[in-house]
Amino acid sequence: MTNASAPLRLNLDSAALIANWRVMAAMSGGAACGAAVKADGYGLGARGVVERLAAAGCRDFFVATWAEAAALADLVAAHDLSLSVLHGVRPEDMGAAIDSPARPVLNTPGQVARWREAGGGRGCEVMVDTGMHRLGVSIEEVVAGLLDGLAIETLMSHLACADEDSPMNEAQRAAFAGLAGRTSARRMSLANSAGVALGQGYGFDLTRPGIALYGGEPSAALAGRIAQVAFPQAQVLQRRRVPAGGAVGYNAMWTAPRDTEVAILNLGYADGYLRGFSGTGMASAGGAALPVIGRVSMDLTAIDVSAAPGLAEGDWVTIDYALPAASAASGLSQYELLTGLGDRFDRVWA
Ligand SMILES: *Cc1c(COP(=O)(O)O)cnc(C)c1O
Repeated sequence: MTNASAPLRLNLDSAALIANWRVMAAMSGGAACGAAVKADGYGLGARGVVERLAAAGCRDFFVATWAEAAALADLVAAHDLSLSVLHGVRPEDMGAAIDSPARPVLNTPGQVARWREAGGGRGCEVMVDTGMHRLGVSIEEVVAGLLDGLAIETLMSHLACADEDSPMNEAQRAAFAGLAGRTSARRMSLANSAGVALGQGYGFDLTRPGIALYGGEPSAALAGRIAQVAFPQAQVLQRRRVPAGGAVGYNAMWTAPRDTEVAILNLGYADGYLRGFSGTGMASAGGAALPVIGRVSMDLTAIDVSAAPGLAEGDWVTIDYALPAASAASGLSQYELLTGLGDRFDRVWA
């Protein structure tokens, strides 16, 4: 939903998005660098992300569902992109899947059988479970011939602990490497953003970063290398003076220690600005730091604007949303911070 006059906007930095993809591409070594754009491009808007990354040279994109694939089908055709649907094919997906330019990522023997019967020999991807025990067929099933004769474009696996220094990373990498040459797959792909940062042994032929493209730093190895992409801004609905001893918001969680200038913003937990920011979030305007006070409401948030004497009804403030810091402030993951951003934001690319 786009509304040019919405009182809430998400400013999106095209140059930062592209720079982050280039950082991931460089860290991918010889591997091609794709992009995970599921969950509507992690909340930024998948179409805007795909258009920009395709122009920068990214060819391989990943969504979760066929509805997400359908929303990108015209872009995939126009730019000759590769699009993979991570959740594979249920029986009720087959109609959409057969007609789609996207390929399913087959996760179960049932999905493999379904695609063999109805896919007409069309290409697919296969997810192999190398220890995460989430999605994927087992290594034993692959070795026993489950995938024989299937036209596989990309053999994939997914790391459980890439954001940590864990022995599971090397165990999964080695297990996956052991499948080289055992299927018809043209390419192999293992690493998400944090996996890319583990080093070139994890790149294989294709990497699949998501969160780092959008400003996330999921592991220490990426700290300081990734630029913020999404900048929420909210309009001031009302400015008021709260007298010393007066309380602000639901449950009177904040009481003014002295007469305090307060602004009420058009932003709340229904927009994805969750209650973890109550008393911990920050905003800014004209260089002044403006702390969130009291409880975040469904559609409204109060900030102390004592440091911004000129800030008036109708003015805009920028919400502090650098993902590592906002995650620490709110207790939400960097992923949740982005994917929760609602459709009342007017998404504006610059
Ligand atoms: C979401 C996802 C990715 C991207 O992960 P990030 O941690 O956001 O980089 C890559 N591969 C698969 C299978 C995924 O589900």
